[in-house]
Amino acid sequence: MHRKIGAHMLILGHTSITLGVAVVAEALYERHAPGAMTSLGVLPRLRSAFVSLSHTVDLRILLVGSLLPDIIDKPVGILFFPDVFGTGRLFCHALIFPLVLAIAGVVPYLKTGSNALFVLAYGSTMHLVLDSMWLKTSTLFWPITRLSFPALPPTDWLGNVFLTLLTNPSAYLPEIAGGILLVPVLLLLNRRGGVLHFLRTGTVD
Ligand SMILES: [Zn+2]
Repeated sequence: MHRKIGAHMLILGHTSITLGVAVVAEALYERHAPGAMTSLGVLPRLRSAFVSLSHTVDLRILLVGSLLPDIIDKPVGILFFPDVFGTGRLFCHALIFPLVLAIAGVVPYLKTGSNALFVLAYGSTMHLVLDSMWLKTSTLFWPITRLSFPALPPTDWLGNVFLTLLTNPSAYLPEIAGGILLVPVLLLLNRRGGVLHFLRTGTVD
């Protein structure tokens, strides 16, 4: 029987959509702020939202957060313990993961004003949404439910991912869309201090 690996959004889909949603939310928030320049067009408004978001949120942490469940679960489930788990969606793909991050974030926020853990919680929540985790409630509601083990043979996971990426629209369309969305971001970064400056500081001038 041919087993399907399921929709697998990889790096570009996760990062760009998570960033995009945050920028749009910031733009909507700014629209209602006192002194908002509502005469601006959509693109300048998004651009200014992107810049001001980068001053309250370290966007590098946001990008890492958007991938965090995979960064932890994929090595654990596929590389280190393939016989135990054999899936790249484990404990960090459960709702409890962003929840714990958010709760743990209260203390540093109150002490130092750091919102880093909240940002990771947001990124991870978006990750679960984009992975359609509501379709896999046994994982989503762990530890209330038992983590169910996979039907997927763990061998040659990387090969499977590449094959899926090339043949399955639900895998390659988000990556292409993500790549396209990143183009204006890179152009903007290039004009505002450069990509390296952004990677070093997490802010856009
Ligand atoms: Zn994932």
